[in-house]
Amino acid sequence: MGGLQSAIRSERSEQLNPGSRAAVLRRSEGTCFSVPERRRSRRTPKRDPQRAERAIKHSTVADVSGDVEEGQLPIGKARAVVGRILRWYAGHARDLPWRRPAATPWAIMVSEFMLQQTPVERVRGPWQAWMERWPTPASLAAAAPGDAVRAWGRLGYPRRALRLHQAAQMIMNEFDGQVPQDRESLLRLPGVGTYTAAAIGSFAYGRREIVLDTNVRRVLARLVYGVAYPSSATTERERMLAGELAPRNPQRASRWAIASMELGALVCRPRNPSCHACPVATLCAWRQAGYPVWNGAPRRGQAYAGTDRECRGALLAVLRSSEEPIAGRVLAEAWQDLGQRDRALASLVADGLVVAEGNRWSLPG
Ligand code: SF4
Repeated sequence: MGGLQSAIRSERSEQLNPGSRAAVLRRSEGTCFSVPERRRSRRTPKRDPQRAERAIKHSTVADVSGDVEEGQLPIGKARAVVGRILRWYAGHARDLPWRRPAATPWAIMVSEFMLQQTPVERVRGPWQAWMERWPTPASLAAAAPGDAVRAWGRLGYPRRALRLHQAAQMIMNEFDGQVPQDRESLLRLPGVGTYTAAAIGSFAYGRREIVLDTNVRRVLARLVYGVAYPSSATTERERMLAGELAPRNPQRASRWAIASMELGALVCRPRNPSCHACPVATLCAWRQAGYPVWNGAPRRGQAYAGTDRECRGALLAVLRSSEEPIAGRVLAEAWQDLGQRDRALASLVADGLVVAEGNRWSLPG
């Protein structure tokens, strides 16, 4: 607790005396933890980089989530957490095209659709190609929905392509071709849920929004509640905590949202967190508790091989390869299990991703 209190005192001192030597020193270092980090390095044993991963697997159960009252975080700790992560982000943020100042609300909205359930590195190329082809909602709305599904390629969950196309049409019909700003209007767009509306409001319009994606939720679970993973669904307790942490200033809140997300993506990763490089390591409840093993519901990656999802992907790959309708016998060759193929094809038709004309099949025109 000494490290935590020291860190909080230091943060408070900086806020009261922003021109103090300590504050200037800390800013000039570009990182936040010069004082507590030096102290920590004398007290903690040399770090084994595999320690956290092993701890997840082997340590004894010690659920410390009860240490934190619901929706409460000492204000000093909250400020320390936010300040440190913001300073870390200033030196470590990835240069992603949809984060650049010139990115339009539409560019940000397209990125948010693509990033739902798809990692950043798989999104970069398709996002670039998409924005070159359809740089505005108007250009996408004028295209055939099948072209959107075709351009979606192998990003997965192709219903997102159809929803994005429908959203572009609604933007043209009801919002004068501009991505709407207010949350209620955003939530009316197909494919936009609570998270995406908050992300667009924050990243495109600089509003103070509570942006809780899986990365942020994992950081908060470890840092504040001392558990390895968050629950499967977002809880009210998490929303209250995120609301407490979000700075009042909208621009700073927007930066905090992206910074905490980036920390989860790059440092506080699901399986192998880089605690030695983490700006809030000395404040982390999970680390202080010795990385107690996860004792919640089993966490398994989503299976893909042999599933209906893979079958749907194989059928769509055949249909994307042709501008003309495809005969049923050609589709039959794309997947051996005919029962599964018929089921997958029926679900693609029900989703509006495939259109049937007799015994020929195509993407929607
Ligand atoms: S120290 Fe940082 S990276 Fe490690 S578990 Fe805690 S928040 Fe995550």
